Amino acid sequence: MAGRLWTVERDRRLREEAIEWLKFRTDDGAIPLTRAEIRDFSFEGEPFALQATQQGIRKPRQLEAALSIQTVYRTPGQSRPYEDTVGSDGLIRYMWRGDDPNLPENRALKSAMENDLPLIWFIGVGMDPALFQAVCPVYLIDEEPELKRFVIVPHDEEAFFPREAGASTVIQETVKRFLTRETKIRLHQPVFRSTVLRAYEDRCAVCNLAHRVLLDAAHIVPDSHELGIASVVNGMALCKIHHAAFDSSILGIRPDMVVQIRPDLLEEIDGPMLEYGLKERHGQKLMMLPTKKIERPRADLLEIAYERFLHAKPA
Ligand SMILES: [Zn+2]
Repeated sequence: MAGRLWTVERDRRLREEAIEWLKFRTDDGAIPLTRAEIRDFSFEGEPFALQATQQGIRKPRQLEAALSIQTVYRTPGQSRPYEDTVGSDGLIRYMWRGDDPNLPENRALKSAMENDLPLIWFIGVGMDPALFQAVCPVYLIDEEPELKRFVIVPHDEEAFFPREAGASTVIQETVKRFLTRETKIRLHQPVFRSTVLRAYEDRCAVCNLAHRVLLDAAHIVPDSHELGIASVVNGMALCKIHHAAFDSSILGIRPDMVVQIRPDLLEEIDGPMLEYGLKERHGQKLMMLPTKKIERPRADLLEIAYERFLHAKPA
C-alpha cells in the first residue's frame, strides 16, 4: 500500500470517504467527537489520521494539500475560536500558521484552495476530554495574504465559488449572501449546539430531561439581536417544550436563574404537561447549569430576556 502512488483520484477518494465516515459517526453533524473517536478512521484498510495532534493544520505526508484544520476550544472570556475572524462579509477566516506563506502547512492550504479540494474543520466545543465538532466539507475560496489568512466556506457542492463568478458583481453579491447564510447554518449553529449541550451535560436546564434528541441549544437573546452572540454564555440547553415556552414568553428565567411561568397559565387547569412540566417549575431554580461559572448564562443577557418575558402579552 505504502508504495502505491497518491494520485489526485486517490486523494479525492480519501476525502470523500473521510467526510462520509464523519457524517455517519456524528449522526450528520449532531454529535461531537473526541480525539480518540476521530482516530478510528481507516482508509484502504489502514488507520489514517484525520486530525493534527498539535497545531491546527493536518497535511499527511503523502498528500500535497491539507486534509483538515482545527480550532481548539476556548472558554468564554478568551476570544472565541472564529468570532474574531469573521469578515465584514460574514464569511469565516482561517489564519495562516505563523507569518511565512512558504511554511509547508500554509502551502498545503493554498494547494487545497487551488485544487478546490474539500477539507474537514474540527472545531473544539469543549475540554476534558477535548471534543470537536466536525464541519465538513469546507472549502477555501480565497486568500488574503496581507492579512495572512484564507476565506472559508462550508458547502456541499463545489459549484458555487465567488472566484469563478468573478465577472459579475451581482452574482458575487448573491453568492456571498448565500454563503454567509450557509456559514451560519452549517458552521455556527452546529458548533453552538454542541458547545451548549456539552456544557449542560445534555440536560434541559429547566426540567433536567436528558435525551439529546429532545434537546435544543436555545439562545437567551435571539441571534437577530445585536447581543445575540453564538457563545455558550448566551445559550441554554432546553428541551423542545421548554425552548418553545421560553421563546414565546410562556416561561421566563429571572436573572437569579429562577423559573417564572406566565401568570395566566398558573390559573389554568389542564393535563400533566401543564401541571408538572410548566406550573410546577414556577419559582424553582434551574436544575442544570454548567459546572464552570464562566460558561453560565451572562447576567446582562438574562436581564434582556427577562424584560422581554415581563412585557410579553398573552397570545
Ligand atoms: Zn425541559
